[in-house]
Amino acid sequence: MAERISRALLPDNTSVADDGMAMFGGLRVDDLVAQFGTPLFVYDEDHIRKRCQEAVKAFPDGVSYASKAFLCKAIAKLVHEEGMGLDVATIGEAYIAIQAGVPSSDLTLHGNNKSMEELRYAMDNKIGKVVIDSFDEIDKIEHLYAATQIPLKALVRVTPGVAAYTHKYVTTGEVDSKFGFTVENGQADKAIKRAESSDAINLVGLHAHIGSQIFTSDSFRKSTDILVNLAEHFGLPELCVGGGLGVPYLNDESSISISEWGAIVHEISRSSSAKLKITSEPGRSIIASAAVTIYTVGTIKEIEGVRTYVAVDGGMHDNPRPALYGSDYETFLARSINESRERKITLVGKHCESGDVLVKEGDIQDDLVVGDLLVTPVTGAYGHSMGSNYNKVLRPAVVFVQGGKSRLVLRREALSDLLNSDVT
Ligand SMILES: *Cc1c(COP(=O)(O)O)cnc(C)c1O
Repeated sequence: MAERISRALLPDNTSVADDGMAMFGGLRVDDLVAQFGTPLFVYDEDHIRKRCQEAVKAFPDGVSYASKAFLCKAIAKLVHEEGMGLDVATIGEAYIAIQAGVPSSDLTLHGNNKSMEELRYAMDNKIGKVVIDSFDEIDKIEHLYAATQIPLKALVRVTPGVAAYTHKYVTTGEVDSKFGFTVENGQADKAIKRAESSDAINLVGLHAHIGSQIFTSDSFRKSTDILVNLAEHFGLPELCVGGGLGVPYLNDESSISISEWGAIVHEISRSSSAKLKITSEPGRSIIASAAVTIYTVGTIKEIEGVRTYVAVDGGMHDNPRPALYGSDYETFLARSINESRERKITLVGKHCESGDVLVKEGDIQDDLVVGDLLVTPVTGAYGHSMGSNYNKVLRPAVVFVQGGKSRLVLRREALSDLLNSDVT
């Protein structure tokens, strides 16, 4: 495991300067840090655009970006420019997308417990589609319809009962799930019939999202098969297969591409006699490997015969995935991206928590010292977006890089931001 960082984990436009320094989008890491500080999220804009283009090609009937993976105005605008709609799961996500200039008709509202306020917002703002998740939600929609007389265009979310072989916190398609209507016990049938007969709902199809970080194409095959049959049975024209395509985080991992995923889903739907509109909503596979996080090493604590702790200026506030899911990452020294990594370390953050780990068993170049710039790749999805202000830490800045130019899209928080909602 001492090999150098795999290029497959890095943004497309990664290069190496003559002195060994990593460059992203044509910019040296030390220059980016001099301008923006650390911790810093760096997104390769052309990488994101390329993945969007691949997704649009793989799902020609329509594809939405799952905005919870990473959302700010710049990314909403970018994915929409590339021809994608946006999935939003709360009024907050919808608000940011609309503020970015995305037409509300290109938004799809998700959520297993949408509030009246969220459903009313969807109606008032003419959000393109709502994905119905429960019988209580149908009641709420009918209640609102009584006043507005505006029917909502909708999909019904079903849980096909397919094991996704991923972490149990990100599995959503099995029978025992808080999401959607179970196919196996007849709930899905009941929900579809009720939605079809309701004046408040203009039902156009079915939706399923079986989980996230899925590597096995078999799971996609099985769930698509169940969904295609169900859509055909009810004569519904649209089938959204959700997101969930996995991405490699470690040197020895690999996954199918967005194109291959699209091909599998379409191959199964072609076996049906009905002509279905097949849509999808990838998040992670669009954005994860487009970004890296850059940290500064603050302390190195060597416990003889046990392990070496390397502490950086970030942590679970900019990437809670290791603490939440036990997720693994690679790490490397920015100044020697091409060198092999001989030293075993545990990379930790600055929070008052032993679980504040970024890389549990990492390898790093041997000559690491305090003050070095350290990079963790594949942090573009569910990092900044899941981050927090825990310990009243300031959330990091996000820059987009492209062709030797950078642009700040989210500034680093300031101390005064911590008092934004403090009314005393
Ligand atoms: C999270 C989510 C997605 C995106 O999942 P990824 O694993 O990021 O591709 C798509 N659809 C729904 C409903 C989701 O909740």
